[in-house]
Amino acid sequence: MNDFLCPKCKGHLRVGSHITFKVKNSQSQSALLLLSPQIGNYSSVKHPSFEFKKGEILDFFCPLCNGSLKSDIHQNLALVLMKDEEGKSFVVYFSQVAGEHSTYEVDGEAIHVTGEDAGVYTYFKVGDKFKKYF
Ligand SMILES: [Zn+2]
Repeated sequence: MNDFLCPKCKGHLRVGSHITFKVKNSQSQSALLLLSPQIGNYSSVKHPSFEFKKGEILDFFCPLCNGSLKSDIHQNLALVLMKDEEGKSFVVYFSQVAGEHSTYEVDGEAIHVTGEDAGVYTYFKVGDKFKKYF
């Protein structure tokens, strides 16, 4: 089982079979959004009263420390830390744009890209920026 952690408070975001986020839509309404811990599975769970449109940028926050998860490599990408079963750490970048499927797992040397929209952000340079998270 992969663990998912907030890059700011290092709190556990994974609960059972979901990763828990606080999100804000363009009307500044906040809600909890649950995503799958399986990379490449873009199904989400939310309360029906919380609405957003395809293409809308949601802001992702840690539900524990309220910290913004927005990345510093692109304003549309958020990030979480992932630890696999062997204790290896990754930075996982994912799109905050509703309906856009792009995920990047970075482990220091390699970027593993998932999702049919991932080409949108492949120009980004990770460089040394992610090293501060380890
Ligand atoms: Zn946090």
